[in-house]
Amino acid sequence: MAQPETAWDSHPEPLTVASAPVPEYGSGSLADLLPTLAAGLGVPDMSAAITELTPADRNCVFLIDGLGWEQLRAHPEDAPFMTSLLATSRGGTGRPLTAGYPATTATSLASVGTGLPPGAHGLPGYTVRNPDTGELMNQLRWQPWTQPGIWQPYPTVFQLAHAAGVHAAQVSSPTFQNTPLTRVALSGGTFLGRLTGEDRMDLAAEQLAAGDRSLVYTYFAEVDGAGHRFGVDSDAWRGQLMYADRLVQRLAEQLPPRSALYITADHGMIDVPFDEQHRIDFDEDWELSAGVALLGGEGRARHVYAVPGAADDVLTCWREVLGEQFWVASRDEAIAAGWFGPQIDERVYGRIGDVVAAARDDVLLIASEREPKESAMVGNHGSMTPAEQLVPLLEVRS
Ligand SMILES: [Zn+2]
Repeated sequence: MAQPETAWDSHPEPLTVASAPVPEYGSGSLADLLPTLAAGLGVPDMSAAITELTPADRNCVFLIDGLGWEQLRAHPEDAPFMTSLLATSRGGTGRPLTAGYPATTATSLASVGTGLPPGAHGLPGYTVRNPDTGELMNQLRWQPWTQPGIWQPYPTVFQLAHAAGVHAAQVSSPTFQNTPLTRVALSGGTFLGRLTGEDRMDLAAEQLAAGDRSLVYTYFAEVDGAGHRFGVDSDAWRGQLMYADRLVQRLAEQLPPRSALYITADHGMIDVPFDEQHRIDFDEDWELSAGVALLGGEGRARHVYAVPGAADDVLTCWREVLGEQFWVASRDEAIAAGWFGPQIDERVYGRIGDVVAAARDDVLLIASEREPKESAMVGNHGSMTPAEQLVPLLEVRS
């Protein structure tokens, strides 16, 4: 007969680091997509890690920012064309990819373009500490400015493909043409800026046809934007999903012969209620802020940089306060568990927090004073839950 549970026994245990669902680096993550396509195009030293894909001679990746697998599956009526591709994609299994940790745009775009996990390309968060200056650096806006080629020294898959005689092109917003993030993640061959989604689709199809072997990337941002402002499932979000679905169909109908179009995303999204239980405010919490020199990352994926000598105390405290809702790991525990990929380059080690905290429940660790805009967002992403981590990999062939 079981002992009656005491109040102490029924208190939930902190989440263990090992219970976090780690991204499928090396077999089914975003970083594996371009190398798989490039290997099929004969680019040297590329690994075809996604074994269910059979690349065509002309390959286009269309990345829809913020469109997670679970959100797509939940809205078939708003995305009839993409939904029709589910059954036939990825060798008939229709399986998603994992974005990588954290599930955030700068990290994921770098994984896509370099074909490397975050521990190697070195953009392991929305904001991370620059160990050389001790300052936080925003990876998306590249602020403060840091020498791009030193921060991320690897060539992109586009550059390697271009060097191997493949026609490589990126068709995106003109705003991104000369940004450091584009330079380190999405350059190689030709960058073509077009303002409207329709123009991008038409031009991407032209670029596919411009080579016997081609590798083309194109992008649409607004599903993510609507989700942040109004939430997943809002009218605005669903409207952007419908629009993205029409763009996919427009491009699919223009594919030149011997082409494959791959639709994917950089991360999914989760709505977080606006109350104190779901939005814990770092700037108002003396326990969590004790011993913390810098707070990096974002609400669902935090890098915590401790003042010298305080890392162990910060870890203990964060586990106690947040450990039932967040996976809380030391830097070395997160690295050993493979959160950032199988290898961590030396230059990347100090960019990762002394403590790394990834949300499991629908909660946020906001910072209302230092991050007023981010703290007010409805939809959020960053962590390892399926809603954030799983992204579609849909295929259309001509
Ligand atoms: Zn976003």
